[in-house]
Amino acid sequence: MKTNPNEAEPRRHLLGEELSALRDWLVAGGQAPYRADQISAWIYAKNADAFSQMTNVSKSLRLWLAEHADIARARLAAESTARDGTRKLLLTWPDGQSVETVWIPDGERNTACVSTQVGCPVGCRFCASGLSGLQRNLTAGEIVEQAWRIRRLIGSAGVDADGSHPPRLTNVVLMGIGEPLANYDAVVKAIRIMNASWGLGIGARKITLSTVGLPVQIRRLADEGLQLNLALSLHAADDELRRELIPWGRVPIAEVLAACVYYFERTGREVTLEYVLLDGVNTEQRHAAQLARIARRLRCNINLLRYNPVPGLPYGRPSATAAYAFQRELRARGVNAHIRTSRGSDVEAACGQLRRRETPPRQKAGPA
Ligand code: SF4
Repeated sequence: MKTNPNEAEPRRHLLGEELSALRDWLVAGGQAPYRADQISAWIYAKNADAFSQMTNVSKSLRLWLAEHADIARARLAAESTARDGTRKLLLTWPDGQSVETVWIPDGERNTACVSTQVGCPVGCRFCASGLSGLQRNLTAGEIVEQAWRIRRLIGSAGVDADGSHPPRLTNVVLMGIGEPLANYDAVVKAIRIMNASWGLGIGARKITLSTVGLPVQIRRLADEGLQLNLALSLHAADDELRRELIPWGRVPIAEVLAACVYYFERTGREVTLEYVLLDGVNTEQRHAAQLARIARRLRCNINLLRYNPVPGLPYGRPSATAAYAFQRELRARGVNAHIRTSRGSDVEAACGQLRRRETPPRQKAGPA
């Protein structure tokens, strides 16, 4: 094997490499192109986490790969399992930064909820992650690694009683910590790797990206040729309240909605509205009326989430009665609205809580 063509090049994180780039890198190192297919098959089809497991790869190449590349990079720093089976992992990268990733089992459906940034620039007033601001973006490899780790975890959980349905990762939601569209290039690259047949093989329609709404990036995403589900975290239906709850959300709601309409027209995929119910803040009848007008305009469904209180923040969880009353108001106005259960609520499942427990917050960096 030739030496690395670029001595100054840092170690490659193979979970962040598209097959063509891996092939180019290996060919530049004097290897046959098919080696890239072999290595990808070991990583994705066989879940290998060490080059030594790649028994059809020559020993010299395995040694060279171990010297110049990593398959996975994170250390599992903490793990918790909720009564409903939701498992939450805290992964720490070599630079000491940590992210959370969650496995949500639901019958034959297994969802990985992945983070896209360390911390978050958006600074939603009700969110634990917003308290510490943005630390850094995640790389494509760090995003893919989260889903890959969840898939390995699912694989190690065994098979169904009759053995006919081995559990597998079926869905990925980019709804963890961070604003995916503020880390656009890495996120889209990660989605392509997760979607690829040589990669994690998750259908684009099984991947959901959740955003607070960056119109330029939503339009760009619409033109990527991917058929992702888009979820807009609205949380308030008028500009004034939205700016109060989401300091980053300075763009008028009308502009965000226009971008969502474009997304729907280009992809044919419906946009879903996410609305966190904050007791007494955005749960009145007039809020439901405003929200219904928006949903009718977009012809979209609404997911209502009862807030999980965060220690130190002044927002409360509405009662189930209040949440159902809000849902009824929406339905009375012809809008399809569902109340989503908060999975894993006994394991600090409000985003950012596990990380904050393990990592005392730094001084607030403020919205980017
Ligand atoms: S709710 Fe989401 S977008 Fe808002 S601060 Fe938290 S992680 Fe960021």
